[in-house]
Amino acid sequence: MKRKKIVILTLTFVMLLLTACGAGKENVENNTGNTENSVEENANSDESSEEPEYGTDFSSTWGDLYIWNCGELPRGNLSDVQRSMILYPKFNRDNICYDPETNYYHSVRWCYMLEDASSIEYCDLSYATEHKMQPCDKCIKPIK
Ligand SMILES: [Zn+2]
Repeated sequence: MKRKKIVILTLTFVMLLLTACGAGKENVENNTGNTENSVEENANSDESSEEPEYGTDFSSTWGDLYIWNCGELPRGNLSDVQRSMILYPKFNRDNICYDPETNYYHSVRWCYMLEDASSIEYCDLSYATEHKMQPCDKCIKPIK
């Protein structure tokens, strides 16, 4: 009878030890996980503040091109180097605009090619394609 009791006591002790160790390990793992998460969040917020994805006005879209081109905006077809300086505005296929006197459609109303337009109409991409309009290469990123 005494032997049985000792065995049971030892087993309980070992069980307790294992449980304590396991709990300790879990805590350590949770802590490392939390640290990693917060580091990732910081990296993401840094990226978005450093480089905006789309041009939202004249200077963010064509600012670099304007300076590089000695304060003049190119009117003809753009070269690859000129294109690489443009931060194109977000293209929304359901909301594009055009000057009925030209054959080009634009992603934004404030495209500098529309400065002299006497009237501006709005449409979607399928309407522009139907009427065989061409994308303006100053405000719409060419698909390669
Ligand atoms: Zn344009």
